[in-house]
Amino acid sequence: MLSQDEKYMREAIRQAKKAEKLMEVPIGCIIVYEGQIIARGYNRRNTDKNTLSHAELNAIRKASKKLGDWRLEGCTMYVTLEPCQMCAGALVQSRIDKVVIGCMNGKAGCAGSVLNLLQMEGFNHQVEIVQGVLEQECSSMLSCFFKELRELKKQQKLMKSFSRKDADEKEDADVKEDTDEKRNYG
Ligand SMILES: [Zn+2]
Repeated sequence: MLSQDEKYMREAIRQAKKAEKLMEVPIGCIIVYEGQIIARGYNRRNTDKNTLSHAELNAIRKASKKLGDWRLEGCTMYVTLEPCQMCAGALVQSRIDKVVIGCMNGKAGCAGSVLNLLQMEGFNHQVEIVQGVLEQECSSMLSCFFKELRELKKQQKLMKSFSRKDADEKEDADVKEDTDEKRNYG
């Protein structure tokens, strides 16, 4: 039986898969208000060519539209990866109640890894954090994506070196042809 948190995290994972289909880093999230999913978002940074197009900001925008308020009081975000500094900042600004995180991001996360912007005493709002919901699934989704990306890049590199080899061989043949012609007519 899936717990309530796991059920919602699964919805966030579904959003992350949408990003993956676009060859984007698979990160997804949803926002829940009074037991209802009011917004969904996924990473579209490359597709939109916009650094602001993180899953969390896309969902925050939709949730505010739905509620008709920039304040997301009473809302919970479920996100597959620990938010970055930009998104953690926006979450504090939105006054959201709680963020449930799939896996942590040791290199860039700002909900406890590099920083914990969600719970700075100096700010006027702190966000409750729950970590590690469907953690394994969320983290293997990312590592599989990066593994496939590395293999794709390796293949592309290989293809490039092959076509370069072809071009070199063709050039050699052309030079030989030229000299043969010269010999014939010279
Ligand atoms: Zn972010």
